[in-house]
Order: sequence, then structure tokens, then C-alpha cells
Amino acid sequence: PDTVKSQVSLPRYVRVNTLKISVEEAIEKLKKAGFSLADKPSVENFGNTIRDLETGQFVQDPHIPALLVFPPETGFHDNQLYKSGEIILQDKASCIPAQVLAPPPGACVIDACAAPGNKTSHMASLMQNNGKIFAFDIDAKRLATMRSLTQRAGVSCAQLVHGSFLECDPGDPRYSGVEYILLDPSCSGSGIANRLDHLTDEEGSISTERLESLAQFQLSALRHALSFPAARRVAYSTCSVHRQENEDVVQAALQEYEGKYHLQHILPTWRHRGTDTFPQAHRCIRASPEQDRTNGFFVALFEKNSERVDVKV
Ligand code: SAM
Repeated sequence: PDTVKSQVSLPRYVRVNTLKISVEEAIEKLKKAGFSLADKPSVENFGNTIRDLETGQFVQDPHIPALLVFPPETGFHDNQLYKSGEIILQDKASCIPAQVLAPPPGACVIDACAAPGNKTSHMASLMQNNGKIFAFDIDAKRLATMRSLTQRAGVSCAQLVHGSFLECDPGDPRYSGVEYILLDPSCSGSGIANRLDHLTDEEGSISTERLESLAQFQLSALRHALSFPAARRVAYSTCSVHRQENEDVVQAALQEYEGKYHLQHILPTWRHRGTDTFPQAHRCIRASPEQDRTNGFFVALFEKNSERVDVKV
């Protein structure tokens, strides 16, 4: 399997936590702290605008409404907005799954592999803390980190569940109202720009066995998600560049659930689409440092086919 090493330095992305502060208020506070807001770039101009940002400048992101973009390495760890949970440091690509799943206020949601909880808190923000998120993670330590991060972010609609998502019963009455599922499972992490060295073997590639076992887990988790009786939308994402963890997993699940689910064509203005390995792959999104100024990422959105009623005229 191939690996990708990126020399592109990524911008600093800041998601405004709208559970605590509006985007406008956050912008005002940042201006008071000495930053200056430049014109919002168009989708087409994003790359050039970001490249030309000067120290201290920032813009609003053209794809993700509550996202602000600063030059690389802008420091925020000592910033009051960060310490208070009013802003969250989150890569742009990792904001896409919650954005396209779009659970509305009042929704009942499962975040299947949730820790450390960035996507949970993004969904809670979109839901205005109104509704319910069952947030599973198998790793107790990561779940503990998630507890403190979600508390700092003011998330009150999430119930943290320590355990395997694969072992929760879709027939359990607790989950009978779950219409939205976000599945962001463990993956090779091969898309994370500055983590590649730790994840590759001596030849600089991720072993085939490792990829196969990750892909098997990812497909089991995706099948499990699609089997929840009331699920209307399931978002699948990884921070991997490998098709074995991305298009191949989605294609296998789609084949199995053909007739029940289809893929939504997400973010139509996003040019970088799923690799053309099966007919609907272009409905998915890929992201990369070179093309999109984000970590390597993949997102697919399954939507349940509506039960068609033929109206006779
Ligand atoms: N969605 C998270 C976020 O945005 O902050 C990141 C999730 S991370 C890519 C994958 C997570 O899946 C890890 O925290 C890992 O412990 C968890 N995990 C792995 N196997 C699991 C399982 N069977 N059930 C639930 N969680 C699992």
C-alpha cells in the first residue's frame, strides 16, 4: 500500500462552539485580542486566500459555517476563548461528518466511536444541546478525556457509554428512536499529515495485514450502524488515505444494503471526490493537504431510501 507524505503546512482551524458563543461574538472577541478579519474567500479562492494570510489575520471558512481559519501555527492554547471552551481546535476535514449528518435540534443520535469527542461536541452544537447523543467508546482512558472536554464545551445532551459499539443491540428500546449515526472508527491514521512516521513500518508503508484487519472492523461497524431500525442517515469517516478503509468499505456496505440505503452526494461544491472505484464513489468526499489544506480524510453519507408511495392520478 502506498503512503503519502505531505510537505504542506496546514492552516490553524478554529471551530466556534456555538453552545457558548455566537460566531459574531467570537469574531468580535478575536478582533479585541488583536486579530483582524479578512474577506471571506469563495470556495474557488480558498487555497490562494489561505496561502496569503498574514500573521494575525483570519477568515471565515466557505464550507463550514462556524469555522475560522488562521495561518499555520497560530497559537491558541493560552487564549481565553480556548480555555473557556468557546473555541475548539479542530481540523476542517474532521468538521465535515457532523456538518453533513446535520442532526437537527431534538434528534436522537449515536456517535459510535466518539472519544475524544470533537464530533460529538460539534453535533451537540448543531442540535443546540437539544435531543440526545449516545456517545460510545471502548477505551476508558479516552472516554475520561472526552468527559472533561465535553464538559468544558458545555455539552449537556450526550450520554457517554463505555463499551463496544459492536455489542450494543440495535433492537434495544433505548435506541429505537435513533435516526442519525456518526461512525468515525479507528483507522490507520495515514491521512494525518504529521503522524505518518509513527504509523508506517520500516519500508514506509502500512502493513497489508493491519489494513485488512482495520477494514474488517470498519465494515462490521458500518453494517452494525446501518442495521439500526430507525436510522435515516449514517455518516462514515476516516482520517485514512487508503481506499481499503474508505471506498472499499463503503462499496461493500452499500452492496449489502442495496435497496435500503443510497449514498448522498455530499457538499456538491467540494471538488475532491471519492476515488472512482465504484459507480457512486464520487458522491463521497476526500480531502488532502495538497488539494484542500486539511489532513487526509474521507467521508460518506448513507441515507435510507424513502418508502415510495405510488400515487395514482
Ligand atoms: N470521533 C472522535 C472525535 O472526533 O473526536 C475520534 C474517534 S477515533 C478516530 C476512534 C475511536 O474509536 C477511538 O477512541 C477508539 O477507542 C474507539 N473504538 C475502537 N473500537 C471501538 C468499538 N468497538 N466501539 C466503540 N469505540 C471503539
